[in-house]
Amino acid sequence: MRRFYHPSPLHINQAVELGEDNSHHIGRVLRLTPDTLIIVFDGASGEWVCRIQEISRKTVVVLPLEFSSTLRTPVTKATLALPIIKGERMDMAIQKATEMGAHRIQLIHTRYTDVRLNTERLNKKLHHWQQVIISAAEQCGLNQLPALLPVAPFDSWIAEQQATLGLIAHPGEKPLAQLLPSSPCDFTLITGPEGGFHEDEVASALAKGFHPVTLGERILRAETAPVALLGAIWALWDSAL
Ligand code: SAH
Repeated sequence: MRRFYHPSPLHINQAVELGEDNSHHIGRVLRLTPDTLIIVFDGASGEWVCRIQEISRKTVVVLPLEFSSTLRTPVTKATLALPIIKGERMDMAIQKATEMGAHRIQLIHTRYTDVRLNTERLNKKLHHWQQVIISAAEQCGLNQLPALLPVAPFDSWIAEQQATLGLIAHPGEKPLAQLLPSSPCDFTLITGPEGGFHEDEVASALAKGFHPVTLGERILRAETAPVALLGAIWALWDSAL
């Protein structure tokens, strides 16, 4: 069944009109027909199986038939702190972090982040990345959207961190498997920009108790490191998923 995000909760047997974007997608792009069953989720509480009742030029009305509170979010909460990466590669990083079940995506501005956006462009980008998160959640079955937190300067952000487990993707001495505690716990993972971290940034993360983590000897691209590390952590802690 196709899945659609609708930002407010539905009620069984109470027909609801979906917004313009979903209506356009269902009616015009996918050309679904009345009586088709779809899934609608509100990004927070679960999902509803709905029957399409009416499709008109601008709106689609659905009838919620059944509710399930399943969320498919990992029980262990992962915060990913990520610098802005150029162009579509940032979309990819955000899409993959969503698929990997990140609980929060914190955007950070580091010294070697070379993407600079004025407020207007940044706001447009934030809106766009929110859509990337929604599409990824629709596709992967996630019913709770990760929070996308606006850009914070690295130095002030790190100063406030009190993570139970903090990891910074940077060549380190201990392999990931030795570094992770045996029982899963909420954690924060920081990955760097194309230009890498400034040594002072690494030093302030270490001073806050973060551990350097490395995955292999190859230099991963800025959009590869978060998905690869999240995947590796979940694999080592498969009970946390
Ligand atoms: N030229 C940069 C490379 C940056 S790669 C440098 O020399 O540091 C972008 C980011 O991906 C890095 O800052 C790091 O956080 C992460 N990364 C790249 N390869 C990695 C690896 N093998 N293990 C863990 N993190 C890695």
